[in-house]
Amino acid sequence: MQTHKYDVVIVGAGGAGMRAALESSTRARTAVLTKLYPTRSHTGAAQGGMCAALANVEEDNWEWHTYDTVKGGDYLVDQDAAEVMAKEAIDAVLDLEKMGLPFNRTPEGRIDQRRFGGHTREHGEAPVRRSCYAADRTGHMILQTLYQNCVKQEVSFYNEFYVLDVLLSGDPRTDEDVRAAGVVAYELATGEIHVFQAKSVVFASGGFGKMFKTTSNAHTLTGDGPAMVLRRGLPLEDMEFFQFHPTGLAGLGILLSEAARGEGGILRNSENERFMERYAPTLKDLAPRDVVARAMANEVREGRGCGPNRDYVLLDLTHLEPAHIDAKLPDITEFARTYLNVEPYTEPIPVFPTAHYAMGGIPTNIRGEVLRNEKDVVPGLYAAGEVACVSVHGANRLGTNSLLDINVFGRRAGIYAAEHAHEVDFAEVAENAEAPTVQLLEELKNRPANPDRIAAIRRDLQEVMDAHVQVYRTDETCRHALAEIKKLKERYAAVSVDDKGTRYNLDLLEGVELGFLLDLAEVVALGALERKESRGGHFREDYQKRDDVNFLHHTMAYRTADGTGEEGTDIRLGKKDVVITRYEPKERTF
Ligand SMILES: Cc1cc2nc3c(=O)[nH]c(=O)nc-3n(C[C@H](O)[C@H](O)[C@H](O)COP(=O)(O)OP(=O)(O)OC[C@H]3O[C@@H](n4cnc5c(N)ncnc54)[C@H](O)[C@@H]3O)c2cc1C
Repeated sequence: MQTHKYDVVIVGAGGAGMRAALESSTRARTAVLTKLYPTRSHTGAAQGGMCAALANVEEDNWEWHTYDTVKGGDYLVDQDAAEVMAKEAIDAVLDLEKMGLPFNRTPEGRIDQRRFGGHTREHGEAPVRRSCYAADRTGHMILQTLYQNCVKQEVSFYNEFYVLDVLLSGDPRTDEDVRAAGVVAYELATGEIHVFQAKSVVFASGGFGKMFKTTSNAHTLTGDGPAMVLRRGLPLEDMEFFQFHPTGLAGLGILLSEAARGEGGILRNSENERFMERYAPTLKDLAPRDVVARAMANEVREGRGCGPNRDYVLLDLTHLEPAHIDAKLPDITEFARTYLNVEPYTEPIPVFPTAHYAMGGIPTNIRGEVLRNEKDVVPGLYAAGEVACVSVHGANRLGTNSLLDINVFGRRAGIYAAEHAHEVDFAEVAENAEAPTVQLLEELKNRPANPDRIAAIRRDLQEVMDAHVQVYRTDETCRHALAEIKKLKERYAAVSVDDKGTRYNLDLLEGVELGFLLDLAEVVALGALERKESRGGHFREDYQKRDDVNFLHHTMAYRTADGTGEEGTDIRLGKKDVVITRYEPKERTF
């Protein structure tokens, strides 16, 4: 075992983690721990863009952007946070430009902007061009730019270090004063355990789409951060809100960016009808994602799906000039050729919704400080990016608002974490702080041999989630999912890993990650069961309307200390008020 001491430890080297590191490392001794090499983080897979009301090509302002974000999120957005994000968006883009990010340009040399779903002028009048982009590799460019600047700034990276536990000075369920003390990490190359003592810890560890089978998310997005804090007695917020992106490649889930529709692509059913005209007469194909995904699923249900099994719809780009497609959408059209053998110049592309983005996560305030209940923070603990719920996306995130979120709130978390580190001493770390982590790993390795497999349990979990907690949910499907997850947890408690070694033991770590996914899946299904209304990405067939009287609140999920919770789980649910500043909830039409 090795020990380290840093003022600030950042968990994750995606966009949020590296943006935080750029701020924190100039102010305090900072380490970034990441299970992947930084440039392999999922931010690098982002395609379409990052929005800001720059008004470079059309009239725009941050207030319209705030409104769109609140309405797009079906009024579950904390409006103070959305205001911060929309206002700071402009500098966030300009900061990246100054760091060297090669944005696409207008003929006059300004940063070009394109349309994306739900981004409008004058509160919904018409789509507006708000998303800054670098072809369809915006996330790749952001990640590379941030990494280069981190290298220039000599940020200390610990690559292929898996953080497996967060250290707090007490148990938030029983102790008054609890603050961050550090993290415990596993070094992939050696199998060695490292304890990092820190005055501030920033979680920037990304999402958890891998609990679903059809997903745009990378293999590593297993929700380690949220699961760790949940196990330590801290709450998670709004976990039932997961976004299904309309245009995954049918049958595969690989993403085709909304930029395809922003550039003029059209969705069609088996009758060649542009069906979005019926569901969203004003914004049509550029309505927010929850609306489009449901419309697509509904077309398929009503028998107007395409293909031999009538189980997908078509994304038509054939009316666009090939040169335009090549200039603006080169990567995603190549995906259609490679994975589906479809030529987008001349043939429409088979698409269907794919699990894409976690709106919920670790609750924070607008300084990135993590909450221990509906109002109090854990001093020294921060979260930013997809792992966090601040909540700027509410019940449904607008496209291009996440690359923005990671930059705005990554920056904030980095600054406040470093400032906090100047104000306090290190919290005490227990002598055997690594013991629970060691025990977790040893157990997985040393259980008696068992024919069951980690991969089999993960596949079964993904199938349960796709079948029962996806675009459409009911009381029955959520209960069924909870019962199945319970059985999967029992199987998990008996499974062992074959590889008993210490070097590059990915077998073992996939086992740990599956444990994280199972814990979170239970919270998602329980939240979906208890939210008896339809809002944003959460649609209940048995409660099809939004119910502001009973459900205009955030869900807070806590793991109980005594193992007793709701519906046979060990999770207790609570509520948190939504912050409403200037936009009173009203019915959404697009
Ligand atoms: C295919 C795709 C396309 C997208 N396109 C867009 C788009 O065009 N516009 C937009 O706004 N959004 C888009 N999104 C969403 C957006 O890209 C992500 O939400 C965002 O990039 C997340 O950034 P992050 O920094 O929070 O996490 P990530 O980039 O996922 O980084 C997570 C980091 O945490 C580390 N980590 C995780 N667990 C551990 C652990 N246990 N120990 C140590 N390190 C750990 C990983 O190594 C990684 O470095 C897209 C998402 C996908 C999947």
